[in-house]
Amino acid sequence: MEPQTVRPQLHMIPFPVGQAFLWQDGEAVTLVDTGPPGGADAVEAAIRHCGAEPAALRRIVLTHFHPDHAGSAAELAARHGAQVVAHRADAAVIRGEAPSPPPDMAAAPAWERAVFDQVHAPLGITAEAPEIPLAPPCRVDREVAEGDVLEFGGGATVLSVPGHTEGSIALLLPEHRTLFTGDAAARTEDGPAPGVFNQDRARTEATFLRLCALGAQQAVETVCFGHGAPLATGGGETLAQAAARYS
Ligand SMILES: [Zn+2]
Ligand SMILES: [Zn+2]
Repeated sequence: MEPQTVRPQLHMIPFPVGQAFLWQDGEAVTLVDTGPPGGADAVEAAIRHCGAEPAALRRIVLTHFHPDHAGSAAELAARHGAQVVAHRADAAVIRGEAPSPPPDMAAAPAWERAVFDQVHAPLGITAEAPEIPLAPPCRVDREVAEGDVLEFGGGATVLSVPGHTEGSIALLLPEHRTLFTGDAAARTEDGPAPGVFNQDRARTEATFLRLCALGAQQAVETVCFGHGAPLATGGGETLAQAAARYS
């Protein structure tokens, strides 16, 4: 699948499950999430498609440890020596030093439990005894927390958005009015919504509302979700409308 242009310096790489985003600052490439295991070649092809060389991959930011986001981080980090960035609360899981905390599917509505069963059927995992398979262990070079700033896109502020996982992060690029939500938010047919398969559903809903308020307040244009099509423009307004539905 070809990468999709969101903004001139921002492309989305779609995978059968999940997606990753490429941000270009001149020659330097930052990857936000990596897609599932086995996606390294697709990421490299996408970087070439955008006119850069895979060797230009400087930084891999992981929004959280789930394998549809961190799955190809180890392979890409090994190939290109890129700096791997993650929140300190998810870092041990990403390194393979701590077990993967399961989602609280008992707190999820029936439709979400059905989706969980469908997605995990090939692995024999059900919502009755939920597990999230670990991504291949990957080094984390920089552990971040709320308010840290990453040196891409004119300065990307780390937002701690716990709930989906304890160490979930979002990124706000004020200069480009762009927000990456990770799985704190997804874009559904009805619009932006909290992510699914959450460690703590109530906290996920609270952080979703915080992101919506922030997006509106900062007059964000572009929103890149953990799942679902990005919003290239008008993101703040769309998030404000979504918040009105959930609050
Ligand atoms: Zn996730
Ligand atoms: Zn996900």
